[in-house]
Amino acid sequence: MPALIMYSSIIYGPVRSRRLGVSLGINLLPVGRKVCSFNCVYCECGDTTELIDQARDEHGQRTTFPSVEAVSEAMRNALQVYPNLDALTFAGHGEPTLHPQFPEVVQAVRDIRDHYQPQAKIGVLSSASLIMRPRPRAGIDLCELRMMKLDAGDEATFQAIDRPAATIRLQPIIDELARMPNIILQICLIDGPVQNVRGAPWAALVRAVGIIQPQYVQLYAIERQTPEPWVERVSYETLRQCAVMMQERTGVPVEIYE
Ligand code: SF4
Repeated sequence: MPALIMYSSIIYGPVRSRRLGVSLGINLLPVGRKVCSFNCVYCECGDTTELIDQARDEHGQRTTFPSVEAVSEAMRNALQVYPNLDALTFAGHGEPTLHPQFPEVVQAVRDIRDHYQPQAKIGVLSSASLIMRPRPRAGIDLCELRMMKLDAGDEATFQAIDRPAATIRLQPIIDELARMPNIILQICLIDGPVQNVRGAPWAALVRAVGIIQPQYVQLYAIERQTPEPWVERVSYETLRQCAVMMQERTGVPVEIYE
């Protein structure tokens, strides 16, 4: 399997994907440190260095994120080097909405996009853990493609798979996702001692998707090394069967994301 990912700059890619087309990645996380509100057992970036739910670590110290100016300069340069992009996507090695100036960063990227490549859509890949808070939410609302993670429909499975920061609970996230318009849910299915692919965890996940009613769901399986060696990859056939079942039970279109 390919090795774990850690980006060394603000801009990475571009990468081509079926859904986003040619997309330039934007990494708002500090170089060399994975800062996230989750520590997912399958994370392709490895173990979370700082598990936080706000832009300060457990000692109250402010975590260093790139400034709005630094992101703007990197974006301006990249858009002159890479023509005809389909998307500019906030993702990187951690949770982008933890950036303390996330709405300002998104607005700056939007302005630069409008000037250089107005055809490119602004996207965000988020754990959805901070969507109840005004500032992370304001930044997400400025994005045109909102891809929100959901790996569980019950608290025990959520805690076991996503291993969130101490204050984060699942139900408020599900409730808020259900209120958000035009979202894409991304669900990683895993197997092993902790799993979300059958039995009660799977049933709860399907129930949550039915409540949220996103635009559509992207189901995917791990394809890289995982921080926890016991995580088992779900086969393509299982993904396909789960997609059919979820779509039938929720009425939500479900795609397999490869
Ligand atoms: S939310 Fe994303 S970046 Fe954070 S630990 Fe999970 S998979 Fe990794």
